[in-house]
Amino acid sequence: MAVQSEDSGCAEAAGDPVALSRKEYSVSSRAAVLEGPRRLQLRRIAIPDELPAGAALVRIEGGGMCGTDVHQYRGLAGAAGQPPPYPMVLGHEPVGVIERLSPDASPGWGVSVGDRVAVEPTASCGVCPRCAAGQRHQCPDRQVYSYLPIDRAPSLWGAYADYLVVLPGTVLHPMPAHVEIADAVFFNPLAAALSWTIDVGGTQRGEDVLVIGPGQRGLASIIALKEAGAGRIIVAGRERDGRKFDIARSLGATDVLEDLDVADAVLDITGGRGVHRAFDFTPAPDALRLAVAATGRGGTVMYVARHGEAGLPADDLLRKELTVKTALGAESAAFAQAVAVLASGRHDLSALHTHRIGLDDVDLAVRILAGEVDGQDAIHVTVVP
Ligand SMILES: [Zn+2]
Ligand SMILES: [Zn+2]
Repeated sequence: MAVQSEDSGCAEAAGDPVALSRKEYSVSSRAAVLEGPRRLQLRRIAIPDELPAGAALVRIEGGGMCGTDVHQYRGLAGAAGQPPPYPMVLGHEPVGVIERLSPDASPGWGVSVGDRVAVEPTASCGVCPRCAAGQRHQCPDRQVYSYLPIDRAPSLWGAYADYLVVLPGTVLHPMPAHVEIADAVFFNPLAAALSWTIDVGGTQRGEDVLVIGPGQRGLASIIALKEAGAGRIIVAGRERDGRKFDIARSLGATDVLEDLDVADAVLDITGGRGVHRAFDFTPAPDALRLAVAATGRGGTVMYVARHGEAGLPADDLLRKELTVKTALGAESAAFAQAVAVLASGRHDLSALHTHRIGLDDVDLAVRILAGEVDGQDAIHVTVVP
């Protein structure tokens, strides 16, 4: 196994990157390795002379962090039920520059050495019915970055590192140079938001919508719903931090309701009709009840977080003939759309970017995003090598 472990904790083990020669950089990569639940270490991993067949080597410029990182850190299974295969390099939302291409790399990528790219989180077979339908995240043979163990050579399967090895079957999106790195790595949550609210959720121009939970996903969805031309964008949540409601307004929310017991308020805002679509981004059982109560006849309720056995109010769903939709990952087309939206500069995302953290402090970054660090309230965290 081409991995050298450093023996002290994450923060101390980093070394001083400035002291490293260019030569050292080119033969090895620092990588934030999750060894087990809550055990993160910065290691140095050799960069292979020869890439796996069809692969690319990407020099990481930044990686976005989301709730999945927190799940992995805490030892919980992923959304699709997969347990974290420790030890593994964390990070699955990378943006970087093509450093090297294997001689048989896919011409379909259409990229050259030196190109800046956003890397989709999944390598998939590309030919099965799910892949053909654009649902590459549901491919039975999918491989998800950061969910590959470092035992598998060449080990560099995560975004929180200097370098990432990209497998064939991964979709790469050219990322324009003018998109600032924190915005650029937002391609992943924005793709999910576009996929959930428009491609799967079906939002049409002029429709009234309810967004429950103004966290990273909910706020990204406001951007997506603006892109869809939604009418009233009502945001409800029980956030500790009122700032998230301010950000929701700045992104285009027309109404904010700082509680979840607000079905009557939603009906008032919509002239008694209820919203056309409600999107629940929380794991709270009363959020699902709000979504159902606030949605008008024939409308759609969508949720994307696990709710355990909480259950939906079946009779209310039936009485109003509501449609229930769910989603886990983003559909392929949404990633390209997300890059286009970011490149357009139509939305000011600066208020979302609460933390930019180096490789030395990935452990701290995950704990901040998890809400475990007093005085730190994170929305979007970018890890930069
Ligand atoms: Zn993610
Ligand atoms: Zn497939």
